[in-house]
Amino acid sequence: KFEPADARELIADAIEATKGRANQSGHFVRFYQPDKAVPALSVDFESMSLALTNLLDNAMKYSGEAKEIELRLEQKDGFVRIAVTDHGIGIPREEQKKIFEKFYRVSTGLVHDVKGSGLGLSIVQHIVEAHGGKITVESEAGKGSTFAIHLPAQPERGASNEEKGSFAVPPSGGLPAGAGTTN
Ligand code: ATP
Ligand code: MG
Repeated sequence: KFEPADARELIADAIEATKGRANQSGHFVRFYQPDKAVPALSVDFESMSLALTNLLDNAMKYSGEAKEIELRLEQKDGFVRIAVTDHGIGIPREEQKKIFEKFYRVSTGLVHDVKGSGLGLSIVQHIVEAHGGKITVESEAGKGSTFAIHLPAQPERGASNEEKGSFAVPPSGGLPAGAGTTN
């Protein structure tokens, strides 16, 4: 069910959903956002929040002793980018494509200690692509990973269409600047 949504509300929802795990494991999420308004998205809110929740969940599961996670909201070239960065075990280059396959789990390093079914990222990819977006990963083994969801911004509409749901989200909306700590 696609509807106009505020990226900051999605982020707040996903942070709320992972709060329990974060509190248990001592992780905290630092949230960065632009000063400028970010264009509205057209999303199925529940699905996209689930996608983001999966990325946050992975960031915590695979971060070893590193407790800080960064969540960045950015806007570029008609796309909104929501990126989750951890400083954990990272993913060797040759594995970075395979992790989006169903049931695939990296079989080296700390991952042995972490429970999972290998489905999360395939679901994330499915959801993001169904929104006309893409998911990217940048990672270095032993250093950490950044998973980013890139979503097309809702096309700008003329003033006459304003009431039909076109809106931009002011930077003061949703989460406060620099906040987002979950414990
Ligand atoms: P599930 O999400 O279904 O509970 P999972 O976490 O194992 O299980 P995915 O989320 O699909 O499955 O991730 C696939 C694999 O990619 C993981 O098993 C892990 O090896 C690797 N991976 C995913 N995210 C990260 C990350 N942030 N850092 C390091 N490795 C990761
Ligand atoms: Mg997972």
